[in-house]
Amino acid sequence: MRKRTRVTRAGLPPPSQGAPFLAGPTFASAYHAAGDPASAPFTYGRFHNPTWTLYEQALSELEDGPAVVFASGMAAAAAIFGVVLRPGDVIVLPSDSYYTMRVLANGYFTQMGVRIRTAPTAGNAQRHQLEGAKLLWLESPSNPGLDVCDISALVTAAREAKVLVAVDNTTATTLGQQPLALGADFSVASDTKALTGHADLILGHVAVREHVWAEQLRTWRTQMGAIPGPMEVWLAHRSLLTLDVRLARQCQNALAVARFLATRPEVESVRYPGLPHDPAHLIAARQMHYFGPIVSFVLSDQAAAERFLTACQLVYEATSFGGVHTSAERRARWGGDAIPAGFIRLSVGCEDENDLIADLAQALDAVRE
Ligand code: PLP
Repeated sequence: MRKRTRVTRAGLPPPSQGAPFLAGPTFASAYHAAGDPASAPFTYGRFHNPTWTLYEQALSELEDGPAVVFASGMAAAAAIFGVVLRPGDVIVLPSDSYYTMRVLANGYFTQMGVRIRTAPTAGNAQRHQLEGAKLLWLESPSNPGLDVCDISALVTAAREAKVLVAVDNTTATTLGQQPLALGADFSVASDTKALTGHADLILGHVAVREHVWAEQLRTWRTQMGAIPGPMEVWLAHRSLLTLDVRLARQCQNALAVARFLATRPEVESVRYPGLPHDPAHLIAARQMHYFGPIVSFVLSDQAAAERFLTACQLVYEATSFGGVHTSAERRARWGGDAIPAGFIRLSVGCEDENDLIADLAQALDAVRE
């Protein structure tokens, strides 16, 4: 079966007379478990939950490797850092990665004796930082700059240097890009974003090539208590089944929007990996199945960006991305990223492309008024 068929059934149990397709969430801290605990499939809510099991099964089918769900994307990333890195180890991070990832590495993990090296995503610059490292962390396309690296080429270099590779696949999602098939050891994502797409939950997961890492990640989750609630996981599973239709529409809209923005005089530059002239396009076209829902562009300054956002009527001003509703924000308002004050991250949703472009057009007109 093709992926877009598989995604509609991912993680669903085989048909059983009278049973629902996807049973509702199981809310339980304790399960009946008399005698030897090994004889009970479920014992205690921090160890396991049947709603997690089905969602992890779904992710495993899509990622092509065992998957472990976490309470957030950061909990998932921190679990990889936690099981892989020991004092004295080196992690090679993208200098343009999601900001909190760098804060976590530079803060807690540096204090624990881990050493950090950084290099930009563009031009595969992290390749030159691998010697003696333990973990290469990639984020492609990067958030918010939308640069892309050649994952297979970096995996090959990392294998030679005996370095493990993790790819933060949040901006692409598992249908947009397959890090494990490209050779990575870990595929990690914030499921908060496009994977679930309804701006109604916080969740994350890691999928792995080697089962042994899944075991270690589960143990970490159990002992650190970084567990998701069953309701969030159930909502996520329900949303995951429509990932392909959402992404198809969002990416088609994103390309149309990027093309439109490129024609506007108020817009100084536009980035979208799907634009044929984008610096990331060649590699993205080789390794991605969808170019993703995020477009970024630069207006002249902070005031222009703020005028634009205030004038938008359809586009919500909000952080986060990947949802069915188009949203945008002036990303520099948070600090931490090397971007201009007028940089806008636009997450394109499932609306009619003409309505979206009309809203963006009138908001750009307002920038000039
Ligand atoms: N990775 C990337 C690329 C992100 O953009 C984010 C959040 O914005 C995260 C990880 C963290 O995810 P969460 O907010 O679910 O913890």
